[in-house]
Amino acid sequence: MLADNLKIVQGKIEAALQNRKEKKETGDAVTLVAVTKNHTPEVITEALALGVECIGENRVQEAKHKKEVLPAGGKWHLIGHLQTNKARQAVALFDLIESVDSERLLALLDEEAARIGKVQEVLLQLNIAEEEQKTGFSKEEYQAILPKLDAYKNICVRGLMVIAQACTDVEETRPVFAKGYACFCKLKEARPEVDCLSMGMSNDYTVAIEEGANMVRVGTALFGQRDYSLKF
Ligand SMILES: *Cc1c(COP(=O)(O)O)cnc(C)c1O
Repeated sequence: MLADNLKIVQGKIEAALQNRKEKKETGDAVTLVAVTKNHTPEVITEALALGVECIGENRVQEAKHKKEVLPAGGKWHLIGHLQTNKARQAVALFDLIESVDSERLLALLDEEAARIGKVQEVLLQLNIAEEEQKTGFSKEEYQAILPKLDAYKNICVRGLMVIAQACTDVEETRPVFAKGYACFCKLKEARPEVDCLSMGMSNDYTVAIEEGANMVRVGTALFGQRDYSLKF
């Protein structure tokens, strides 16, 4: 099941890379983040055994439980909104925090990382789709934080994360992803070390890759429907 789904997703990733109209500054390889939220810890073991390297979880508590019951392995990404009161736990748990969406949170993560002598890798989440309920930096907030990033000595900004709006026609997401790519290119000019552009989920990752994503966060297409009755 998972093995078959993984092959299909990997095939579509390759095809989307071939479909790009131009060479992208994000390179020509894509990192697949397997999103295992609301699935059992066992699916993580299965995914890692099949060669998946990155695991995506959206809740600190759930990730903590899973890491406690599993042997060490995989790179763990936080992809969901992080409450500031969980910053300490998040720094202890995650290799990459993709969902940094406010300066206050970034400052707290820096403090917590300094406390344990870690350099925390993060992505800045941009609210390009401008949906009311979506988190992420607005254009104005993003412009405001850019010149201040170097002050956070225990933070390494690896790049950007973008979530497209839900829509009936996936083509509607293309302009959002194109904007995300433009933001990435601009950021890379100022900060050449930046190398991650995380865009695309099960229903839109091929469009995201065509537009320049080099990291996709895929759950349902790999693991099927989430089980919301699971408690962690
Ligand atoms: C749940 C989630 C995903 C994966 O969604 P699927 O549609 O199941 O692929 C990706 N990114 C974020 C931020 C998520 O919360």
